[in-house]
Amino acid sequence: MISSNSPTSNSPIYLDHAATTRCDPKVVDAMLPYFTEMFGNAGSRNHQFGWQAEDGIEIAREHAAKLIGAQAKEVIFTSGSTESNNLAIKGAAEIYARAAAGQTGRGHIITAAHEHKAVLDPIRRLMREGFDATFIQPPADGVITAEMVKAALRPDTILVSIMWANNELGTINEVPQIGRLCHEKEVIFHTDATQWVGKMPTNVEADQIDLLSWSGHKMYGPKGVGGLYVRRRKPRVRLEALQDGGGQERGMRSGTQNVSGIVGFGKACELCFNEMESEGKRLLAMRDRLETELKKRIEVTVVNGHPTKRLPNISNISFGFVEGESLMMGVREIACSSGSACTSASLEPSYVLKSLGIGDDLAHSSLRLSLGRWTTEAEIDSAIVMIETAVNHLRRLSPLYDLHKEGVDLSKIVWQAH
Ligand SMILES: *Cc1c(COP(=O)(O)O)cnc(C)c1O
Repeated sequence: MISSNSPTSNSPIYLDHAATTRCDPKVVDAMLPYFTEMFGNAGSRNHQFGWQAEDGIEIAREHAAKLIGAQAKEVIFTSGSTESNNLAIKGAAEIYARAAAGQTGRGHIITAAHEHKAVLDPIRRLMREGFDATFIQPPADGVITAEMVKAALRPDTILVSIMWANNELGTINEVPQIGRLCHEKEVIFHTDATQWVGKMPTNVEADQIDLLSWSGHKMYGPKGVGGLYVRRRKPRVRLEALQDGGGQERGMRSGTQNVSGIVGFGKACELCFNEMESEGKRLLAMRDRLETELKKRIEVTVVNGHPTKRLPNISNISFGFVEGESLMMGVREIACSSGSACTSASLEPSYVLKSLGIGDDLAHSSLRLSLGRWTTEAEIDSAIVMIETAVNHLRRLSPLYDLHKEGVDLSKIVWQAH
């Protein structure tokens, strides 16, 4: 029985589950036989080795489908959410471009400015190939509503891609309402549900989703395997394949299937289905305590994103009057993410935080803390103290914090350039 994420007692506290999760030992156990005794190619139709591999894949497909309220046939296995997003967006754009024929351009796509790069970059590529796109600017709380999508719709809109929950903020978009809107307007709707599936109940039928991406390694499964839900009726969604070959996965994803990975993905889906409700409650209680304590102990602490329309396991918090890089150094006993992304030489604030209108200073000094299956209360207690200590230490060195304490309104100061 594993009581903590830490492989050894002096390794950092793991609060970066939105980046990746440890594989559940039950997942590893389920996978192992498929590397050795049951090593067959699922495409080998003439012998037992092939049948065993195919059985393993089809059982996994049942578990994957059950987790999202789909039919097994509607699940395509991929290498993860990046591939699922690419296949969904480019594959749908290629097919449905024809529906927009006669209009100027190849068709219009709607997404949001704070989506994951694995959605934004495929859409940017499509724009270079003649498609048009609208990137909805999120409001300060980060939540994309059906009203915002409605306002962006055009007669030539062919595809809407809005993520279910944001990976940096944990904020939850109005996906069921957007699904209904898209079906009403007969526009294909894709959602990147990587952070959502496995943590929150999902039903693609009730919520009228056409395409949904999710990934094994974000939900206690292995890396390099994921799923794409492709609706088969009302409407029957078609996709242009991105790679050609043996015609596996209904022809949408050729290539010998990653049998052990898919089996592990299926097991991870089964475990999430069973454990998600109790796990969610447990994580929410710990996450709320983490935020409450940090806000109580440290002044000028801001929780970014909508206060309640958020996943139970992610917290994005900014601390005023500390410098981002020093903060990360100060909390190096916690494995977490920061609001700064190191791009080449410069330290760029996160484009997600910037899109919410959060200033560069607060974006730089933000931490994304994400909890998971083996996070303990003792770890949360330690993390609270470590962050409090680090922030206090940095503020003692900050002339700006001194001014703030003296009651100077820093926003009114005009800085003199030398
Ligand atoms: C992690 C993540 C991805 C990428 O998933 P991979 O399986 O690592 O390719 C895409 N979208 C979101 C929202 C993510 O959190």
